Amino acid sequence: MSIASRAASAYEQLRRHSTHPLISDSKAADIARAAVRLAALLGIDPAHVQPNRSWNSLVLPLAPLTLRASDPEDERQVYTFSYRDPIYDDEPFFLLGPCPVCGAMVPLAEVRSLADLGAFLDQGPAPLLNNGMLPNSYPDEFDRDPAHSSTCPFREGES
Ligand SMILES: [Zn+2]
Repeated sequence: MSIASRAASAYEQLRRHSTHPLISDSKAADIARAAVRLAALLGIDPAHVQPNRSWNSLVLPLAPLTLRASDPEDERQVYTFSYRDPIYDDEPFFLLGPCPVCGAMVPLAEVRSLADLGAFLDQGPAPLLNNGMLPNSYPDEFDRDPAHSSTCPFREGES
């Protein structure tokens, strides 16, 4: 895909999604810009990134925002990211995946560049030790996430 066609697609996504029947235009535009930034980071057509299930069924709350990126070469391969709040334009994305202990979808890797995703895909989530210490490769958001099961030792405040 050429630079020009990817740029045109980014512009089209912003144009199409900067108004929304359920949320304010400014918030819709913030979400569209975050989705376009994620597509640029991943090097894919912005048409392959969308919030939660679709643009038409945005699910509250929108912060953190959940974005789904499907692989243009295999639509079944979907990467799910969270973003703290689309009102900010300089936050990292967090790749979501199952907690190695409780299986809840939580942030497993901070992704500021394509190489960060590459490192995670190469190494996978580091094994978690019984001592409750979180390996450095995990983001702080891992144990801050309220999605962990109530018995998970990595639910913040219980380890
Ligand atoms: Zn957990």
